[in-house]
Amino acid sequence: MPSFRSFQPPSRLLLGPGPSPVPQRILDALARPTIGHLDPAFIGMMDELKELLRYAFRTGNALTLPVSAPGSAGMEAAFVNLVEPGDTVVVCRNGVFGGRMRENVVRLGATAVMVDDAFGRPIDLDKVEAALKAHPGAKALAFVHAETSTGAVSDAAALCRLAREHGALSLVDSVTGLGGIPVEVDAWGADAIYSGSQKCLAAPPGLSPLSFGEAAVAALKARRTPVQSWFLDLGLVMNYWQGVGARAYHHTAPINMLYALHEALLMLREEGLEAAWARHRANHLRLRDGLAAIGLHLFVEERARLPQLNAVQVPDGVDEAAVRRRLLDEHGIEIGAGLGELAGRIWRIGLMGAGSTPENVDRVLEALGAVLGRKPA
Ligand SMILES: *Cc1c(COP(=O)(O)O)cnc(C)c1O
Repeated sequence: MPSFRSFQPPSRLLLGPGPSPVPQRILDALARPTIGHLDPAFIGMMDELKELLRYAFRTGNALTLPVSAPGSAGMEAAFVNLVEPGDTVVVCRNGVFGGRMRENVVRLGATAVMVDDAFGRPIDLDKVEAALKAHPGAKALAFVHAETSTGAVSDAAALCRLAREHGALSLVDSVTGLGGIPVEVDAWGADAIYSGSQKCLAAPPGLSPLSFGEAAVAALKARRTPVQSWFLDLGLVMNYWQGVGARAYHHTAPINMLYALHEALLMLREEGLEAAWARHRANHLRLRDGLAAIGLHLFVEERARLPQLNAVQVPDGVDEAAVRRRLLDEHGIEIGAGLGELAGRIWRIGLMGAGSTPENVDRVLEALGAVLGRKPA
């Protein structure tokens, strides 16, 4: 047996597409003693957590809870509960995550009608409307609000309205949106939405906040077939997360992770949602200006830029992977690479959650300037 030791992670500044830096206060919450998942004290914490999630999502939806797994499981939960074999779903794809939505639909034995836009562009509302008109029986319109793979935001309010006008449920990925830019579940009339703990909420990865409105719950209750996934069947999960008094065991909740998310949401509420949005925006503008000063350009057109995920064009002749490697080795900073068709063409600088500070913007600008041998003009 080799003599292994406890793992000590190196010191890193996480400025990629997630996970984002986790504040010590949240790490401290994670380290508190584990108690039973049916302990009345724990159930009380769960009820607070649901209330805090409603605050973050700006919703009164009763069915609002964290799925016990990362954002991809929130995505899967939304699809597997709402989509049945034979259904048609209009899926918008303007980045990698829209492609994953398609994969979910197809694997459920349903038909995905794709509305494609170029990576880096927001979703084209006219094309979506045409697709909904051409497929009047579509069960849902699925789209990514904040495309982390490209740094583009789409008009979620307008997309949810289009879905409603055509009798389709809106199914929204806001894994990267929540906590960083306005997410208005009730004002949009979003039917089903999910997020992730490790992007703008500043908690570690592993939980996926999810919220279903009345129409989504009605669709779940009206299913002709059982939900294919036992673990993600919200009808069963609800028995643990809802109701007064006794709650039924479904799975052992990730207790300490839920402490962490509770603390992260408390911090968000202390700061205030609007203040958090304004902070993300201000630090994005600081980064934009600093990048311009060293001759670097953002990939997404101005009106569709996500403040928390900045896609930067890799200059011609620069080895993008080597630059990321030097940022990590020499400066302890992690940024992201391009995904899918954008691999090699962009870097992704995340200013998410606790990572969105002026100091971090200045650190990454200085490090990039040093690695590329560029001084601010
Ligand atoms: C990160 C992300 C996901 C997946 O979340 P995981 O926690 O990595 O499973 C899904 N959609 C979007 C838009 C994301 O940014």
